[in-house]
Amino acid sequence: MATDYLHQLTHLRLNTNCNQWSDATAHRAPHKPFLLLSILDLAAQGQIDSPFIEPSFDLIERFAHYWDLVQPPSGKCNMAYPFYHMQSEGFWRLVSKPGQEQELSEKITSSMTRLQSVVLGAEIDPELFELISGHKSREELRAALLNTYFAPDIRQLLLREAVENQEAFEYSQRLLQAAEAAMPFGQPDKPQQIRDQGFRKAIMNLYSHRCALCGIRMITPEGHTIVEAAHIRPWSDSQDDRPANGLALCKLCHWSFDRGFMSVGRDYEVLVSSLARSEENNPGHIMTLEQRPIFAPEEERHIPDQECLGWHREEVFRV
Ligand SMILES: [Zn+2]
Repeated sequence: MATDYLHQLTHLRLNTNCNQWSDATAHRAPHKPFLLLSILDLAAQGQIDSPFIEPSFDLIERFAHYWDLVQPPSGKCNMAYPFYHMQSEGFWRLVSKPGQEQELSEKITSSMTRLQSVVLGAEIDPELFELISGHKSREELRAALLNTYFAPDIRQLLLREAVENQEAFEYSQRLLQAAEAAMPFGQPDKPQQIRDQGFRKAIMNLYSHRCALCGIRMITPEGHTIVEAAHIRPWSDSQDDRPANGLALCKLCHWSFDRGFMSVGRDYEVLVSSLARSEENNPGHIMTLEQRPIFAPEEERHIPDQECLGWHREEVFRV
């Protein structure tokens, strides 16, 4: 282990304020440690393949997960802050978008949207990239970050989150690779939260956070998305976690799908129940979706399975 980087990562310049930051984070701002932990997670998933860190949605989402776990008493979850201020650490150099060089001289930490409009990403030292790419050195860095910046009980929480996220990622990769489209695939022996997270990752990856039924795509700069991963035939009944037994659905479509107000037809068209038109209901834009084609993944094997959809039309949909 290059002790130089171990030293640098355990001596980050952090905002210190006993009133603002609790003993969970040793009375220091946790932004930079959370960003570094998030980068380690993505590196473990092979998502960082060069010494260049992009402010991607996946990174923002990881950051938000850590943030939400520890919930500091104040301060907004905003990854723009550490992404910008990491420049003071020497191993991190922001790269602006073409023509935006001048903007970089200003503090662009108000939001991720603002940061992403100016910055392509951050270059890190090649030696540091080597360290985060290797399993052993990466986990040494993780342990050093956890031990330095977090209280003992919080360390356990954050480490468990990292391990579960990695397991869920590996499960999602297996789901995406499960080539036998006609075969159910699931691992009932896996803990439910790993399966749920893994299934969700696979579905989000395939649908890019777009609702299959209405096409809405809304994500916040803080890493939250309106879309959820839905089983067509519920896990409890099917034990089938193949993406072909799933749909990305916004909250409204998810509720409507699970309660039989909406379904998907034999030609992958949106079906809307006549119940939606009943006097008690005022289904608004749902009616405009009727007979429109759904938004489906490109790869044939991940397109929703008609057998699962047929089950939904028979058992759940209220014609
Ligand atoms: Zn929707």
